[in-house]
Amino acid sequence: MKIKTLIMEHGKLEQVSVSSDLIDALYHIIKKTYLEAEEIIIKNPTNAESTKLGDFLTFILAYPKDVKTPIVKVTEERTGENNIYCDRFKGKTIICFSGGVDSTGALLKSINEGNKPVAMWCDYGQPYRKMEKEAVEKISNKLDIPLLEVTLDISNLIAIGGERFGHVFPARNLLITAIGLCFRPDKMQLAGLCDELIVPDKSLRMYDEFGKLFGTELYSPFVTKSKADVLCMWQKSWNKYLSADETISCYGENGNCQNCSSCAKREIAFVASGYHKDFPPVFLNQHELIENHWFSRIDSFGFERRTDILVALEYVYHDITPKLQELVSKNLEKYKDEVKQRKNELLQEGGTLET
Ligand SMILES: [Zn+2]
Repeated sequence: MKIKTLIMEHGKLEQVSVSSDLIDALYHIIKKTYLEAEEIIIKNPTNAESTKLGDFLTFILAYPKDVKTPIVKVTEERTGENNIYCDRFKGKTIICFSGGVDSTGALLKSINEGNKPVAMWCDYGQPYRKMEKEAVEKISNKLDIPLLEVTLDISNLIAIGGERFGHVFPARNLLITAIGLCFRPDKMQLAGLCDELIVPDKSLRMYDEFGKLFGTELYSPFVTKSKADVLCMWQKSWNKYLSADETISCYGENGNCQNCSSCAKREIAFVASGYHKDFPPVFLNQHELIENHWFSRIDSFGFERRTDILVALEYVYHDITPKLQELVSKNLEKYKDEVKQRKNELLQEGGTLET
């Protein structure tokens, strides 16, 4: 399978095509998963040990928890006929980029440390791709870094399995990072946060084993951070490059609908970090999501996710619904010590919330 990539650098465009046996193998596995296979057997597209690779791929596919996913077996037979690489960015760091706070933060952190990273964005038919494309182009242009726009045509797969998995197809991040490997980077970054570690291809095991299996290190600079932490760091060091308001992460058409779950999550981080001081309308528009879906599970959330929600909603307490006020009060009392600790952490990180 040929992967068309548009390289944008200093306003110039160049089209290249890359391919690899690893990409072909992952595409095959994803297709078989959509077709509800119980077992998938593939030849080994890497230099890694076959059993270890099989275990890893089985683990990556096993998500979400309530969907039955296949076991992957990798034979001793190796493949190696379809590797077409592009050496243009050999030795650089490639950062998977979506135009959101986390991946833009990863770019800024790298730039601020004196590096010149390469951003890679993947168009895989996500419904909000038009907005994403505009944002990633605008941001990489402003930061004057090369952008790789990878087009992955998986419409055939989504036609088969879209109902079960939606647009977030299984092993998505693994397939995208496998495409990055075709550009021979020295290192790759995938900006997973501490509350995303349950997603197999943003998990500690992914970051730990990727380099061992595929020969190139993959890491997240924010593996112990939440989105609010990233925005605290942003205020401290990165506003000189770009405002975080230029990032997008919305499931709606205009990039900031203030009425979807992604906007709600995003504004929690913006308010908890002090980046936004005004009341975000999404807390009223999505009050049912917050009251029912979030607060029913708040005890099972990790420390950062739970406390970021409470810190943000306490700050806008007078503007939220009475039902939500009650839930916030109850939990602020219950998690008093945690919230206090968290507020200190956010301030130390560079946050500006006045409490
Ligand atoms: Zn939205």
